[in-house]
Amino acid sequence: MLAGANDIAIQPLGAIRPELLARIQASLQNIYGSTAAILPPLKIPREAWIAARQQYDSTKIIRFMTRSAPAAPERILGVCDVDLCTPILTFVFGAAEVGGRFAVISLQRLRPEAYGLPADRLLFMQRCAKAAVHELGHTFGLRHCYRYDCIMFSCCSVEGTDLKQERFCPRCAEKLRDARKC
Ligand SMILES: [Zn+2]
Ligand SMILES: [Zn+2]
Repeated sequence: MLAGANDIAIQPLGAIRPELLARIQASLQNIYGSTAAILPPLKIPREAWIAARQQYDSTKIIRFMTRSAPAAPERILGVCDVDLCTPILTFVFGAAEVGGRFAVISLQRLRPEAYGLPADRLLFMQRCAKAAVHELGHTFGLRHCYRYDCIMFSCCSVEGTDLKQERFCPRCAEKLRDARKC
């Protein structure tokens, strides 16, 4: 743990259950060894809505966060419960500035119910925590990893998310350590 370094804040965008925010907070504190404060919620910005797709543009949500964020935390993770996309991707589980300060995750496609399966609260919360650790990893400059069990593996399905461990492979862990020394 690096004392006092790299503080993280979690920014709810819209109403997010406290239990879920606490689960994400615990994972981020555990994995990154940083404090992870939970900020008061902000409304999801209307400017990010794409009516033709009935989704929100993740890039615009991050742009909104850069304007609304408090100055102190070194990194801020947005958490929203709306479907996210980019101009070229039909959906994203999250998005981040590589080597930057902001990231965002969406809860929409992480619930088993989204795939016609019975609700599973613990599985859902675990997926949310994995998405949070992954997107914040990008802000520390990490890119995608080829190891399917590494948290930085890029997957476009929840099955892939479930195969990942909630930790970095040795190679990504080393890159993270190097990034945090700077
Ligand atoms: Zn990624
Ligand atoms: Zn890795």
